[in-house]
Amino acid sequence: MTNKTENKVVVNVNIHPQIDKGMSPTLNDFKGGELKCHCKSNAVTVQIIGQIAHNHACGCSKCWKPEGALFSLVAVVSKDNVKVTSNVDKLKVIDESAAIKRFACTDCGVHMYGRIDNTGHPFFGLDFIHTELSAQTGWAAPEFAAFVSSIIETGTDPKDMTAIRQTLTSQGLLPYDCLSPVLMDAIATHIASN
Ligand SMILES: [Zn+2]
Ligand SMILES: [Zn+2]
Repeated sequence: MTNKTENKVVVNVNIHPQIDKGMSPTLNDFKGGELKCHCKSNAVTVQIIGQIAHNHACGCSKCWKPEGALFSLVAVVSKDNVKVTSNVDKLKVIDESAAIKRFACTDCGVHMYGRIDNTGHPFFGLDFIHTELSAQTGWAAPEFAAFVSSIIETGTDPKDMTAIRQTLTSQGLLPYDCLSPVLMDAIATHIASN
C-alpha cells in the first residue's frame, strides 16, 4: 500500500490585522473621526470629517503598514476634510520627490496622511489616510486589494502568492496588481481629457 501524502505548503497569511480579524461594518451617515499616531505622549492627531472612499489593502512599498502586515489599509478623503489638530511640528514628509507626500510622525514613524501637490494628478484634491489609526468604527470597509504583486519586491516569496491571493479573495477583496478597474478607468479618463 502506498501512503500518498500531499506535499502541501501551508502559508500563514497575515494580510493586515484589521482585515484578518474582520472589519467593522460601514456606517451610513458616518461623521468621521480622529487619527492618532503611535506615540504614547504628545501624539500627532488628525481630524477627518465625513466618510472615506476607495478603502483598500495596498501591497506597494510606499504605504505605511503595521509591523508584520503584508498590506497597508489605505483610503482617500477630500484634503479639505483633513486637519492636523495636535503636534503638527512632529510631522515630516518622508520623500519630497514622491507624487504623494506622506506626512509621518518623526517619533513613531506612522504616516498620518499623504497629499498630492500636483494639480494635474488624477487624484489631486484627495488625501490618503489609514483609518486603523482611529478609535472610531464605521469607516467604509476595504473594497479590493491593490498592487498585490508588489509585495514580492519587499520580500514575499513568489511561491506564497497563490495562497495570498486566495486569502484576499476569501476576505472579499479582489486582488489586482495595479489599482481596481474603477480607479484605473478614472486615471485613464483624466489622462484622456487632458
Ligand atoms: Zn508619533
Ligand atoms: Zn500603497
